[in-house]
Amino acid sequence: MHHFEFKNNKLFAENVNISELAKEYGTPLYVYSAATFRRHFEAFDSAFNGLNHLTCYSVKANSNLSVLKLLAEMGAGMDIVSGGELYRALKAGVPANRIVYSGVGKKAYEIAEALKADILMFNVESVAELHRINEVATSMNKTARVSFRINPDVDPQTHPYISTGMKKNKFGLDMDTALTAYKTAKELSNIEPIGMDCHIGSQLTSIDPFLEALSKLLAFKEKLSSMNIEIEHLDLGGGLGITYDDEQPPHPKEFGEALTKALEGQKLKVILEPGRVIAGNAGILVTEVIYTKSTPTKNFLIVDAGMNDLIRPSLYQSFHNISEVVKNERPKVEVDVVGPICESGDFIARDRELPEVKQGELLAVYSAGAYGFTMSSNYNSRLRAAEVIVDGDDIIVARRRETYEDLLNLES
Ligand SMILES: *Cc1c(COP(=O)(O)O)cnc(C)c1O
Repeated sequence: MHHFEFKNNKLFAENVNISELAKEYGTPLYVYSAATFRRHFEAFDSAFNGLNHLTCYSVKANSNLSVLKLLAEMGAGMDIVSGGELYRALKAGVPANRIVYSGVGKKAYEIAEALKADILMFNVESVAELHRINEVATSMNKTARVSFRINPDVDPQTHPYISTGMKKNKFGLDMDTALTAYKTAKELSNIEPIGMDCHIGSQLTSIDPFLEALSKLLAFKEKLSSMNIEIEHLDLGGGLGITYDDEQPPHPKEFGEALTKALEGQKLKVILEPGRVIAGNAGILVTEVIYTKSTPTKNFLIVDAGMNDLIRPSLYQSFHNISEVVKNERPKVEVDVVGPICESGDFIARDRELPEVKQGELLAVYSAGAYGFTMSSNYNSRLRAAEVIVDGDDIIVARRRETYEDLLNLES
C-alpha cells in the first residue's frame, strides 16, 4: 500500500491532491504522509519484537516537530546528535529515558542539558569526551550513563560521506582504545558504563556489514566481561537503506530476523537508530518548472527547488525519482532538472528521461522525506520551503514557508 499514488492521472498524498496542495501552500513544498511514517515505524519496530529492544528514531533524518510528535505517540525513542535535537525531542514529548545522544563534538552545555533531562545514555566517541562528560556530571552531582561508540572497521559499501565505521573515519573508538576507555570509565566518579554502540554508515543495502559489526561487538563484550565490566545495552545504530532507484535493501523484517538470530542467548537490551528507513519514502518535494531552456547539448528544466532545498543530488550524486504531478502523454525527452542557484552543482537530476514538461507545471521529487528539509539552507537568500503533513484528508502545516522578515530576523 503506497500513500503517494496517482488517481485519474493526478498525484495524491493519501486523500489529498498534490496540485491543490501546491496551489494552497506554494512551491517548493515538502509533503509528508503520516500513514507512511506510521507504517514504516511499525514495520521496523515490530521486526524486533523477538528482542528486548528500543527503537530510537534518528532525529537528524527529519526533525520537524510534528513528525517527532507523530513518532513519539507511537512510542518511539530518539537518537539525537545536538542540543537542538534534544530540545526538539523533549518538546515533542519523548520521555528522556528513551533518548540516546550520539556525535563526535558534544559541547559542555549540551552535555549539561542532556544530564539535566536525564537521558538514557551518551554514546561517547572519544576519551576526551568521556572526561568532559565526567567533569560536567561531577559539577552537577549526577551520574552519566554511557556507551562507547566502537568503530568495528567494517566497510558498509555505501557512499564515502556516509560510511562511518571504517578505520579512517572520525567516528567512535577503535577496539583497543575502547577497551582502555571502559577501564577508565569504570574508575571515573560520575560515569556509569552501561552499553556498547556502533553505527557503521547509512543507506546500507545488505545485512552482511551489520552482522559483521555485530559479531565483532559481541566478541568485544566477552573481553569486557573478562575485565568484570558487564554491559546491558547494545546500540546497533541506524543505516538500513531504502529504494531510491533500483536498490533492493533488505526489508526491516529480514533485518530484524537476522539480528534476533545473531543475538540468541544474549541478555542485552538492543537499541536501534533508524532514520532514513522511517522518513525517506514518507516524503516528496513538489517543485514548479519556472522555465524550460535548451542549449545545443542539453535540455534544462529550471525548477524552483534548488540545492538549498534538497542537497543530496549535489552532495552525494544521489538519485531521486521524479515524475509529473499531473500525468501527461507527451513523448519522453532527456533533461537536466536544475535549480535557480548560482552553482553548476545545483541540480536535482541529470540526463533524466521525462515526458515533456512545460513551464508552470509541477514535478514531484520522491524519497525526499529524509535528509531533505533537515539539510536545507538559506543559500542565495532563498526562503526555506514549507512542510506539510497529510493525514488521510487532513493537512497539517508542519512548518510554514519562511518570509523575508525571517531571513533578516537575526541580523543587524
Ligand atoms: C545518522 C545516524 C543514524 C541514522 O542513520 P540512517 O541511515 O538515517 O538510518 C543513526 N545513528 C547515528 C549515530 C547517526 O549519525
